[in-house]
Parts: sequence; C-alpha cells; structure tokens
Amino acid sequence: MKIPPDHPRAEALKIRERLVRGFEDGYVVPQGLIAQGRGEVFDYLIGEKTIPPAREAIKAAAAAFKLAEHPVISVNGNTAALCPEDLVELSEVTGAPLEVNLFHRTEDRVEKIAETLREAGADRVLGADPEHLVRLPNLSSHRAVVDDRGIYRADVVLVPLEDGDRTRALKELGKTVVAIDLNPLSRTARDADITIVDNVVRCVRKITREYERMDPDRAKGVLREYDNGRVLARVLDHIRERLRVLADEAAGAT
Ligand code: ATP
Ligand code: MG
Repeated sequence: MKIPPDHPRAEALKIRERLVRGFEDGYVVPQGLIAQGRGEVFDYLIGEKTIPPAREAIKAAAAAFKLAEHPVISVNGNTAALCPEDLVELSEVTGAPLEVNLFHRTEDRVEKIAETLREAGADRVLGADPEHLVRLPNLSSHRAVVDDRGIYRADVVLVPLEDGDRTRALKELGKTVVAIDLNPLSRTARDADITIVDNVVRCVRKITREYERMDPDRAKGVLREYDNGRVLARVLDHIRERLRVLADEAAGAT
C-alpha cells in the first residue's frame, strides 16, 4: 500500500504497514495487531510524543542497564516488526543480548524473528537454540521458555509490549523488570519496576542515547531517586490535563 506523504497520519500509517508486513511474513500474530490498536489509543491520549514522565523512566532504564551484570532485551513479533534496528543498536551499545520470547510460540516464528533481527544487524540472537532452552518455574504460558544464557540468568530484563503474567513471574524470580507499554493501566505497567509509557518506535533509541551519557555514579543516583508509582501518576495527570485542554477547545469551537 502506498501512503501519501501529506496524509495527516502518515507516520502512524507507516508504522502499521510494518506490522502488516510482519503479519504477512508470518511472525506477527493477529493478537499482535489488536495489541497495536490498543497501544495507538493510548498514544493518541498522550499526544504521540515522548512525555516528561516517560523521559524520567527512560533515564532510569538506562541507569538500570548501566548497573546490571546481565541485562537482557526480550523481543516479540511486534517489536521485531516495529523497530529491529533500534533494538540491535541498544543491544550493541549496552552489551545486553537480544532474546526472542513469545506468548504464541512456534519454532517457525522464533526463527523468523531471529532472522529479522539478523537482517537488522544482530550477530547473536538468543531464544532459538533448543540446547539452551529452559523453563521458568512459575509461569504456565510459552513465555516461560527462556534461554539459559539470557533471561534465565538475567538480573535486568527489558520487556517491550509485555504480558502481565510474565512481568509478575520475572519479578518473583528477583529480576528487575523494565517495561515499555503505552497503557499506563495494564498489569505490566503497574507491576514493572520501571515503566516507560511511550511507543517503542520512539523510546528504544532514547534509552541508548541516555545509556551512552550515563556513568555508574550518576546511574546509582538516578535509581535512588526513581519512584515508578509517581511516574505512572504523572502520566495519568498528563492525560487528564491534555483531555481538559482538548475539552475546552472543543467547547470553544462549537
Ligand atoms: P497486561 O497483560 O499487562 O494487563 P494487556 O493484556 O492489556 O496487558 P497485552 O496484549 O498483553 O495487553 O500487551 C500489549 C500491550 O502493549 C498493551 O498494553 C498495549 O498498550 C502495548 N502496546 C501496543 N503497541 C505498542 C507500541 N507500539 N509501543 C508501546 N506499547 C505498545
Ligand atoms: Mg495481557
């Protein structure tokens, strides 16, 4: 499909096209398309930009990666379709491996996603080699299948577009969970240690930039000050304030 460059929502439509292509290639599942739709609604509400509380969470994410011994980046079908280059860059800069981890897991999807990441420049992708796959003890879905070199031994896990059950399972195992989720009300958003309420297509590269600027001393200070509950409250306040302004404008326009 050709998207006219002057279309008012050209950017959002281009992002959708990436998912549709991933769907046609067989590694984005139909449920992933629904998840994107839900994400878009919240993106509308925050104003389709990186808002200040998300910036604070991005800084905390960079700090957590800086101080981690074994940080890992979890990748699913949607994120592989939406921003593979950004994920590869974050992995290269931080040394955190990329691991394919899927709720709707099939070997075919895992392989296709690993291939998409390799095409984007990754030289190592975890989560595909049966010899290294183990199960997390406290999770029944396919999300429990993890790599013993990756999520299994990780102390910090970045989970973009996560499912609430795994966030909880990872936390129970003592791991620090950094979530990217446009929905500030999801279980993932509320349970994670650090929640970045932003679109993956905007924020992954911002984490990389912050990481490059962060030294370990500053990282400690950032994490000491960080309060995820307060950040989520500021996101909700941002939405409320924005809706109030929009409501006033709508009333004035009639
Ligand atoms: P939970 O299981 O945590 O309660 P959920 O069941 O509402 O969440 P899932 O379908 O499990 O949602 O996960 C998808 C989540 O990813 C949604 O909360 C959605 O807002 C978010 N999301 C979708 N697309 C994007 C995107 N491009 N960037 C960031 N977040 C996104
Ligand atoms: Mg869910």
